[in-house]
Amino acid sequence: EQEVAEYRKSLAIRVSGFDVPRPVKRFEDCGFAPELMRAIAKQGYEKPTTIQCQSLPIVLSGRDVIGIAKTGSGKTASFVLPMIVHIMDQPELQKEEGPIGVICAPTRELVHQIFLEAKKFAKAYGIRASAVYGGMSKLDQFKELKAGCEIVVATPGRLIDMLKMKALTMMRATYLVLDEADRMFDLGFEPQIRSIVGQIRPDRQTLLFSATMPRKVEKLAREVLSDPIRVTVGEMG
Ligand code: ADP
Ligand code: MG
Repeated sequence: EQEVAEYRKSLAIRVSGFDVPRPVKRFEDCGFAPELMRAIAKQGYEKPTTIQCQSLPIVLSGRDVIGIAKTGSGKTASFVLPMIVHIMDQPELQKEEGPIGVICAPTRELVHQIFLEAKKFAKAYGIRASAVYGGMSKLDQFKELKAGCEIVVATPGRLIDMLKMKALTMMRATYLVLDEADRMFDLGFEPQIRSIVGQIRPDRQTLLFSATMPRKVEKLAREVLSDPIRVTVGEMG
């Protein structure tokens, strides 16, 4: 325990919450299947970034996480890799429809980046991902979602539109990520986020990532996450 505390300190990782899993040092320590390890290697990722060292084992254990780390720290893979594992662990859900993993991000550009990262790791498993954002034809988007997918990466406004059009159902969604939560709030997406969260079963796993934690984001986190573990990297936060 002392050693774990020293290791966290050396990486400038702070954690709060109960029963926090110990940080990993290598991807080999995450228990990933060989296909996923190959996909990680193909990406050129040799070892986990600091936030990944601590958040990967927590997310893989099924716990909710509040992750606070600056841009460029590798937050995407810390929710995308466990999402692939989560999806593969849900055979009984394969029969139903709609995404299992739902990721909300503030802008089209961020949605696209996350979508590309998700696809790289999903491909090996035949897991389908869709990107949903404004500016693209709603009819095309509708058709794509109707064809089915296991992962949806979306801006909150367009996802609400698609839910209203019944392009997808949230009945098998069990893994929700709110990425760049502070920016989504800055852009006025709080009502849409609350609506989306309200449409996803309460026994989901929920992850919230943010560069900063303004009071409104803190309040949302308290309301929509269950016994979260908070991971902060760096001197900020
Ligand atoms: P954030 O969401 O924290 O801003 P990203 O997830 O976008 O950061 O990652 C930033 C960059 O680091 C991306 O180019 C990504 O491909 C790269 N990256 C992520 N994880 C690793 C890793 N373990 N090793 C090397 N590069 C990585
Ligand atoms: Mg990011």
